Amino acid sequence: MIECWENECMSAPVSIVWFRSDFRLGDNPAVDAAVALGGPVVPVFIWAPQEDEEWPPGTASWWWLHHSLRAFAKELEEVGSQLVLRSGNSMGILLSLCKETGATNVFWNRRCEPACIKRDREVEEALFEAGIRPASFNGALLYEPSTITTRAGTPFKVFTAFWRACLATQNPPRPTLATCRLSGPRRWPASLSLEELRLVQQTSPIARLSDWWKPGTVGARAQLDRFLKEWLSAYDEARNRPDLPGTSRLSPHLHFGELSPRQVLHALQRHARESGLSEGKWLRSQFVAELGWREFAHHLLWHYPHTRNAPLRPEFERFPWRSDKEFLSAWQNGRTGYPIVDAGMRELHGTGWMHNRVRMIVASFLVKDLLISWRSGAEWFWERLADADLANNTLGWQWTAGCGADAAPFFRIFNPVVQGMRFDPEGRYVRKWLPELAKLNTRWIHCPWEAPQSELRSAGIGLGSDYPFPIVQHRIAREVALQAYLRMKRSVRK
Ligand SMILES: Cc1cc2nc3c(=O)[nH]c(=O)nc-3n(C[C@H](O)[C@H](O)[C@H](O)COP(=O)(O)OP(=O)(O)OC[C@H]3O[C@@H](n4cnc5c(N)ncnc54)[C@H](O)[C@@H]3O)c2cc1C
Repeated sequence: MIECWENECMSAPVSIVWFRSDFRLGDNPAVDAAVALGGPVVPVFIWAPQEDEEWPPGTASWWWLHHSLRAFAKELEEVGSQLVLRSGNSMGILLSLCKETGATNVFWNRRCEPACIKRDREVEEALFEAGIRPASFNGALLYEPSTITTRAGTPFKVFTAFWRACLATQNPPRPTLATCRLSGPRRWPASLSLEELRLVQQTSPIARLSDWWKPGTVGARAQLDRFLKEWLSAYDEARNRPDLPGTSRLSPHLHFGELSPRQVLHALQRHARESGLSEGKWLRSQFVAELGWREFAHHLLWHYPHTRNAPLRPEFERFPWRSDKEFLSAWQNGRTGYPIVDAGMRELHGTGWMHNRVRMIVASFLVKDLLISWRSGAEWFWERLADADLANNTLGWQWTAGCGADAAPFFRIFNPVVQGMRFDPEGRYVRKWLPELAKLNTRWIHCPWEAPQSELRSAGIGLGSDYPFPIVQHRIAREVALQAYLRMKRSVRK
């Protein structure tokens, strides 16, 4: 019976599924399209960082990719398939793989990064010319960026209006289930080993990410289940508290597509049903709105591809940013003298992730207190975040700097001490990431320079040696930032 099915398979067309992310079998439209044809399927990953010269993946992304590919290759083996790994020019490799395997179809899921869109268009044309059918799908988003527009047919620039428009359209389709068998070609094409891609560098400056993360669909599912069971019910209150385990930490899994947003939404819906929540309530919850911000970020990058490098609000091109290597280095290394900022930067260094509230605080400190361009901050995050995502990172930085869509106004400047006291009231987060301050009384934990000498002495802290004095005075830095902002506005009016 099996033999007969395999013979049937062999006469059906061979399809290549080109994976760039979306490393999962469940709810994967490109895989589903290949399976629907009934023929052999060749899953391929091509390592081509040179195809995005501007934003090639950073070190933490390389680490995640390595482990995600390993987990995905295992998942494929479990359904009788393999992951073919190649490195080089995507178009050339796909054309050659079509020849090697006799494939007449190449399927993939779309991405929003401008370099990817350009490359995919060229690949599509080349495949067409070679008589091969290319087809691409939406596997990473709940709503296609091109389908959500204002009444005037223009893209949205305000989140609430965007999200309202999304929710007013049809609910995203239910996620599809993973296939339990994927037939392969008669002869598998040659593949590199994962190690040959050299994704995990021995000299990686990133600390032990494996202590914190489990890349792959199994890790992603476990994280989602834990979030639903333990943290979702308190999400609205806890999501701003870096000292509590209140958010889902699904961002790298979502970025690499080990989970689709449809799968997350579906799991939430099931959970809500089991908990007796009404449909309207869970769909309009804060957590779903955060997934909405992810949609909004991709919508913006798709419609305004230049924002990866330039502010959406063009007047900010004239902002008098400073280039101060010492300040930038103090910020990168968590040595600014402001505990909540430094704790965030050390969390990033230690785990490849940072809490959203703290991302906003450290970003505000860089662009407003230090007047260093959001681009420098975005680049550092890009290098260090395991969830580095061009759409989300661009939105996050431009939002904080006041130069993006629906952004916080520039003149609203976070006070790092007040933010620390409000969102880390007992200083637990600061103590965790800045052990040198661990013994300091809570009263001074967010402003150690104000502590009396006797307090510092009994906490074993030498200010200026164990922990730095603030590199700027926030009160003065704030005034300087506001003046710079006014100068920019005046220069635009002229
Ligand atoms: C300066 C700055 C840079 C950022 N860079 C990135 C980045 O490179 N990659 C990234 O995934 N997120 C980025 N964010 C957004 C946000 O900080 C992270 O998505 C979030 O902290 C991830 O943690 P979580 O999975 O526990 O989030 P949860 O609160 O559990 O949210 C669930 C999911 O919703 C999405 N999400 C949540 N908040 C946002 C947001 N503000 N914008 C877009 N999507 C969101 C994420 O996919 C997240 O996993 C950035 C934010 C700022 C302020």
